Amino acid sequence: MQNTQNTSRLAIYGGNPAISNPIPPMYPGGMSIDSEEEQAVLEVIRSRRLFRYYGPKPGPSKVAELEHDFASHIGTKFALAVTSGTAALITALVGLGIGPGDEVIVPAYTWIATASAVFAVGAIPIIAEVDDSLTLDPSDIEPRLSPFTRAIIPVHMRGAPCRMDAILHIAQQHNLAVIEDTAQATGASYMGKRLGSWGDAGAYSLQFNKIITSGEGGMLVTNREDVYQRAVMTHDVVGGQRNQVPNEQIIPGINYRLSELQGAVALVQLHRLDSLLEAMRLRKRFIKDSLQDIANKKGITFRSINDPAGEAAIAIIFTLPSAAIAQSITECLRAEGLPAMVLYSPDIPDYHIYPHWIPIMQQRSWSATGFPWKTHPRKIEYHLDMCPRSLDLLSRSVHIDVHPALSNSQMEEISDAIHKVLHSTL
Ligand SMILES: *Cc1c(COP(=O)(O)O)cnc(C)c1O
Repeated sequence: MQNTQNTSRLAIYGGNPAISNPIPPMYPGGMSIDSEEEQAVLEVIRSRRLFRYYGPKPGPSKVAELEHDFASHIGTKFALAVTSGTAALITALVGLGIGPGDEVIVPAYTWIATASAVFAVGAIPIIAEVDDSLTLDPSDIEPRLSPFTRAIIPVHMRGAPCRMDAILHIAQQHNLAVIEDTAQATGASYMGKRLGSWGDAGAYSLQFNKIITSGEGGMLVTNREDVYQRAVMTHDVVGGQRNQVPNEQIIPGINYRLSELQGAVALVQLHRLDSLLEAMRLRKRFIKDSLQDIANKKGITFRSINDPAGEAAIAIIFTLPSAAIAQSITECLRAEGLPAMVLYSPDIPDYHIYPHWIPIMQQRSWSATGFPWKTHPRKIEYHLDMCPRSLDLLSRSVHIDVHPALSNSQMEEISDAIHKVLHSTL
């Protein structure tokens, strides 16, 4: 692509911003909501059947249909709709029998909810490094194991798949359960197999910021009937009775049921999923291809993607030689009108990186006993520098959203903005 603006003055120094057409906010599914969602919600309202299990007249449940279609989309035997991605992680952990006394490996870079879900079941999150894919580094799992480790939660962060083959291999060797946190990568795949279907269970979020959305909501998938059964009982206080689980196997539940209104919206969104992913993949390829030359010339590396064909392509992330350069380039890009960000800034609170997980890092608890940390047989200590490689990488990484509705001229402007900034700063 030819750049007319390469030599023009940076917006941060008073030049004209490269972006004239504002970039839409990054709610891929949320921004696609139209009359189909409206119709689906109206249908539920008019039926007065707002609860999945019953209503004034018998009829099909939107939530049940959503679960059916979700399971077949991902390729698992079971799917269970719940109120959030965090609830999906909690029901998966309970489904796998993980609780007090157990340790669970989570990556240094993930939304705090991954660690909070482990805390919620009374287990202890153990934090491990991410590699240059910004997902859990398989080589840092074994060094973090203890006799109490029971599970690993790989997180397919910012749309990109973890190395599930390597992670499952390690899990098998140590008899660990694997729960895939797929909250940021719904519908993406690794080596042709959908994320969430590799491990013992997969958890998705339908919160408004995610790829597809019903405002709030979540989904658990699994091929294991025992896991599904316990998850069903956890998500509904009478789930055991409702599903004819033998009395002696019923465990107490917490209500995490999804409403029919949310189910109706999520069902329409699920049917948009593949086209949203395709739109983002095309746009990411276009922008990334246009940056290849300058990246090579300036020694910039793109985040390594374990399976480019399968990733959700929600973001372009590139890594610079130093944190200071990443910060100044980001400031310049923002002045050009491109909402870029550095993934880790020590001074900007952000619950995506462990140093900022204050309640977890300080081992705070609702229990005066300090449970689960203070009652654990092994002393657990968290330090700011426990994953130095992750912090180094994230502090040098610049993130740019890839919205599925970007027009050709918007993509060209994004590319121009990056060219312009890299040319004049590096
Ligand atoms: C959003 C998110 C969650 C939690 O989902 P909620 O629906 O907000 O509870 C968990 N893990 C990751 C990686 C997320 O991005």
